[in-house]
Amino acid sequence: HLVLGIETSCDETGIGLYDLTAHRLVSHRVFSQIDMHAAYGGVVPELASRDHVRRIVPLIRETVAAANAGLQDLKAIGYTTGPGLAGALLVGASVAEALALALGVPAIPVHHLEGHLLSPLLASEPPRFPFVALLVSGGHTQLMSVTGVGKYKLLGESVDDAAGEAFDKTGKLLGLGYPGGPAMAKLAAQGEAGKFKLPRPMLRSGDLQFSFSGLKTAVLTATQQPDYTTEQSADLAAEFQEAVTDVLCAKALSALKQTGLKRLVVAGGVGANKRLREQLVAAVTRRGGRVYFPELEFCSDNGAMIALATAMRLEAGVAEQTTDGAFAIRPRWPLDQAFA
Ligand code: ATP
Ligand code: MG
Ligand code: FE
Repeated sequence: HLVLGIETSCDETGIGLYDLTAHRLVSHRVFSQIDMHAAYGGVVPELASRDHVRRIVPLIRETVAAANAGLQDLKAIGYTTGPGLAGALLVGASVAEALALALGVPAIPVHHLEGHLLSPLLASEPPRFPFVALLVSGGHTQLMSVTGVGKYKLLGESVDDAAGEAFDKTGKLLGLGYPGGPAMAKLAAQGEAGKFKLPRPMLRSGDLQFSFSGLKTAVLTATQQPDYTTEQSADLAAEFQEAVTDVLCAKALSALKQTGLKRLVVAGGVGANKRLREQLVAAVTRRGGRVYFPELEFCSDNGAMIALATAMRLEAGVAEQTTDGAFAIRPRWPLDQAFA
């Protein structure tokens, strides 16, 4: 009983295959377009769509073959229906719906962020419900209370840039390539936090909202000082990373306190950040809680998390199903408005 998951919301073509009976991921493949977009300093939507078209069918074949299975073994096909780039989403949606129609199996629309926040459940020691999810990706910074599959309550989010976006934009202004996040983390490791003083935006706002756009501006201002030299960029990157980490840790702790929950699940690309991981583990375990991360390969976009979300929705009996190949994409789609 295999479920196929298809992810094409941005610049990764991701395919995952999940075994409903054995409750495990059997194979997955990701093709990242990062190298293609790096030349432009960011994702070019039209190029992304075209590349998904090129990659998706071979990648599905490869993923299914890696499990020694055939297309006839697929019992359902889940795909990211939003949020994301419209043209990119359309590629995954069309292929998923066409394949489901041809095979006579249900096609199941999946919320991209649901995939991200369930991704730690693919780890060897998965968290149990309920938990607080800290979703830190390229497009979102959100705290959610998660009580079950499809039961997501938004506790707070960024009022402007997402944490990943802030890493990317700050990396860009420090002259690092795209994506800025991993490059910033690498640079930060060679520097020292505290030599520069950057703000901790909204640290004491008394709610669970975030704001990261001012931090990027503060970095820009620091680089414009007459005595600033590029040798100091590592210290600046370290301080930036520390500022983001401080705010994310403090708000995640507040969310645990506010909900009375003990488990924190961290998901999304920024969840790969080593400093953030260390600080979250230290802060949460000190208070008797526990932090769960996805495997590093499942932090950024992938098909495995979409296959998992599809499987979990099917098992919980809350999978939306399209009929007769009619479908819609949802480029903008708040997770707490997703069907439960
Ligand atoms: P969304 O899921 O909100 O639509 P996305 O899919 O583009 O956005 P992800 O793939 O989850 O986001 O994460 C990508 C982001 O993670 C990028 O902004 C990238 O810079 C950031 N990132 C990746 N690795 C690290 C790291 N080690 N430190 C900080 N940021 C990182
Ligand atoms: Mg990406
Ligand atoms: Fe994502």
